Amino acid sequence: MSSTFSLDPGADQLAVRDWLHGFAADVIRPAAAEWDEREETPWPVIQEAAKLGIYSLDFYAQQYFDPSGVGIPIAMEELFWGDAGIGLAIVGTTLAAVAVLANGTDEQIGTWTPQMFGTPDDVKVAAFCSSEPDAGSDVSALRTRAVYDGAKDEWVLNGTKTWATNGGIAAVHVVVATVDPGLGAKGQASFVVPPGTPGLSQGQKFKKHGIRASHTAEVVLDGVRVPGSCLLGGKEKLDERLARAREGVKRTGGRGNAAMATFEASRPAVGAQAIGIARAAYEVALDYAKTREQFGRPIIDNQGVAFQLADMRTRIDAARLLVWRASWMAANNQPFTAAEGSMSKLYAGETAKFVTAQAMQILGGNGFTREYPVERMHRDSAIYSIFEGTSEIQRLVIARAVSGMPIR
Ligand SMILES: Cc1cc2nc3c(=O)[nH]c(=O)nc-3n(C[C@H](O)[C@H](O)[C@H](O)COP(=O)(O)OP(=O)(O)OC[C@H]3O[C@@H](n4cnc5c(N)ncnc54)[C@H](O)[C@@H]3O)c2cc1C
Repeated sequence: MSSTFSLDPGADQLAVRDWLHGFAADVIRPAAAEWDEREETPWPVIQEAAKLGIYSLDFYAQQYFDPSGVGIPIAMEELFWGDAGIGLAIVGTTLAAVAVLANGTDEQIGTWTPQMFGTPDDVKVAAFCSSEPDAGSDVSALRTRAVYDGAKDEWVLNGTKTWATNGGIAAVHVVVATVDPGLGAKGQASFVVPPGTPGLSQGQKFKKHGIRASHTAEVVLDGVRVPGSCLLGGKEKLDERLARAREGVKRTGGRGNAAMATFEASRPAVGAQAIGIARAAYEVALDYAKTREQFGRPIIDNQGVAFQLADMRTRIDAARLLVWRASWMAANNQPFTAAEGSMSKLYAGETAKFVTAQAMQILGGNGFTREYPVERMHRDSAIYSIFEGTSEIQRLVIARAVSGMPIR
C-alpha cells in the first residue's frame, strides 16, 4: 500500500503526539535526573507507561504499521524529548521486537512479541544481542556459535554478547549467532532465547557516560539450548539461504544478514530519538537566552547567541525531514537507493550532539551543572553517533550506495 508523502501527520498522529507529550512532560521529565543518578532501570515509569498503553505491543504495532510511516518517529521524538535514558528504558524492547518482525514467521511473531512486553501488572522487557567484544561495527565477525542438535531438534548457543540494552534483565533475548563461520555475515541467524532458559546469564553491567537509566550489559551464553522453533524464520529457510551462500549465488533482493536487517529497519527511529533530545535542549536554551541578562539585556539580543539558536533550530528541522522521509519510504516499500535510512540516523545523531553542545554553551556555567537538564542531554546525545551503527559506518553505507563503489 502506498500513501503520498506529506508533512501533515494527520489528526490521529497529532493526537498521539499530544498524548505522548503529556506523558513525557508530566511523568518522564520530572523523573529524569533521579534515574540518571541511580543508573537503574526505571521500572515504576515503565509500569506507568504500560498502564496507559504507551508500553505495549499494540501501541507499537499500531505506530509501526501506520502507512504514513511517521507514527514511530513521532512517538520516539516525544518520549526522548522527556528523557533519553528513560525513553530507551521504555522503547529498548522494540529493537528485539523488530528483529522478530523482520526475520520471524507469523507464528513466531505471535508467540514471542507479546512475551517481550508482559502485561501492565507484570511488565517485562526484551533484549537484542548482536554486538560482541570483537564484533561491533564488523557484524560479520560474530563468534557466538549456534550448533544444531538434530536428535533433539534443539539449537545450542555458546558465546558472549556485549552492550546489550536490557541484556540479562530481559524476559526474551534475541541472539544473533553464527551457524556457518565460513560464510561470514551470510552464515548468521537469529534465535529467540525464551524466559528462564538455563545457561543464559548477565555478565558485567556497564556504568555509562549517558542514557544511564537504560540498562546495558554483557550476556553470557553457556550451552544455552533452545527448541528448533526458536530459530527465526525456520530451518528450511535458513538451509536454503546457507546453500545459496555456499554456492556463491548473489542475492538479488530481500534482506541481507539477520543483524543488518534489524538495524536497517530501526535507523530512522533511532534518528527520531536523537531529534527528541536535540529539541529538548534547544527549548531550554531558547528560554534561557530570552531570560538571562548580561550587560543589561537578554543574551539573545546578541546576534552571536541568536544565530546559534537559529542554527540549532534549522538543523533540528532538517534532521526531522530526513527521518520522516526515510520512515515514509520504509513504510511504503520504497528502495533506499541512497541509503536514506542511514542518512537520517547520521544527520539526526550528529545534530543531537551539536545542539546539546551549543545549548550548554548558551547556558554558560549553569549549562555545566546538574542544576539544569542540558548537561544530561549533552551526555545522552553522545551515544547517537555510536550505537545502531557509528556515524562513520553510516557514512560508509551512504558512500557505497551513492557511488556504487566498494568503499572501505
Ligand atoms: C549504550 C549502548 C547500547 C547498545 N545497545 C546495543 C544493543 O541493544 N544490541 C547490540 O547488539 N548492540 C548494542 N550496542 C553496541 C553498539 O551497536 C556498538 O557499540 C556499535 O556498533 C559500535 O561498535 P564498537 O563499539 O565495537 O566500535 P568499533 O566497531 O570498534 O569502532 C570503533 C571506532 O572505529 C570506527 N570504525 C570501525 N570500522 C570502521 C570503518 N570500516 N571505517 C571507518 N571507521 C570505522 C567506528 O566508527 C568507531 O569510531 C550498544 C552500545 C552502547 C554503547
